[in-house]
Amino acid sequence: MSSPARPSNPDLDHLIIVRTRSTLRARVENWRQAGLRIALVPTMGALHEGHLSLVKMAKANADKVIVSVFVNPLQFAPAEDLERYPRDEQGDMIKLNTVGADVMYVPDPEEMYTPNFSTSVRVDDVSEGLCGAARPHFFGGVTTVVTKLLLQALPDIAVFGEKDYQQLCVIRRLVRDLDIPVEILAAPTMREHDGLAMSSRNAYLTDHGRQVAGQMNVALKAAASALAAGEAVGRVADQGWQDLMDAGFDTIDYFEIRDAETLEPLGTGPLSGPARVFAAAWIDKTRLIDNWAV
Ligand code: AMP
Repeated sequence: MSSPARPSNPDLDHLIIVRTRSTLRARVENWRQAGLRIALVPTMGALHEGHLSLVKMAKANADKVIVSVFVNPLQFAPAEDLERYPRDEQGDMIKLNTVGADVMYVPDPEEMYTPNFSTSVRVDDVSEGLCGAARPHFFGGVTTVVTKLLLQALPDIAVFGEKDYQQLCVIRRLVRDLDIPVEILAAPTMREHDGLAMSSRNAYLTDHGRQVAGQMNVALKAAASALAAGEAVGRVADQGWQDLMDAGFDTIDYFEIRDAETLEPLGTGPLSGPARVFAAAWIDKTRLIDNWAV
């Protein structure tokens, strides 16, 4: 069977496109022999300023930057948006070239998952609750593909966004538990002018949905201020839930306050340590997530 037509490469003065593990390995091997420090930034593409801020952080902390662009089928449930997830390989190439990434690694699904692929990597504890409860298949898919990407690229550092804060905690636990020799760096969330966290999925929103979406960060911020002022966790969580309903979200998966490091629930009384506020809600059949430090 012939493979689908690939977009022709735009003029790239720096960026190299790599589609196979063996080519990636060979390049990484050359860099290693030259004593260079290597960074990996895993993404699902349709890149925006949030992704590019990760690449900039990677560049500031390494000599060579690999950005993987792979819409990982393993982390989508059958009814989710795998098929309609935005893809823009040409646009991604141009953006990555502009910010000075060295390699865009774009493996095919067959390159990542052989027909009898039968291994999965599962992290318990921090994966439970929040997105782990709402999307039970999700973190297993993420941890499996991130383990593979780390083993394929063998980077010294890997950069993840605080936008997906639970994912960041899960990846930190994964590399700690499996002794993977990589340093995980966290990048702050990049936001639109009204505070909406940038996300590839924002492209799904109607004008109305976009307005509603812009209220999620307002509710999170209000909750964080109330908690910092000593209000009880239970009351603040209830108010946050109500704020999202009033803003016009269709369904709310969660509005929760958790320990900032362990992600454990914090009871209902006032806070006694560092916490983070988390929300996930639906508008325009689109699931949006965000979080805020207290
Ligand atoms: P994704 O392509 O959505 O899988 O995201 C790839 C990486 O970019 C993850 O580490 C995300 O946390 C990070 N990311 C996504 N959106 C943002 C944002 N608005 N600000 C900072 N990092 C982000």
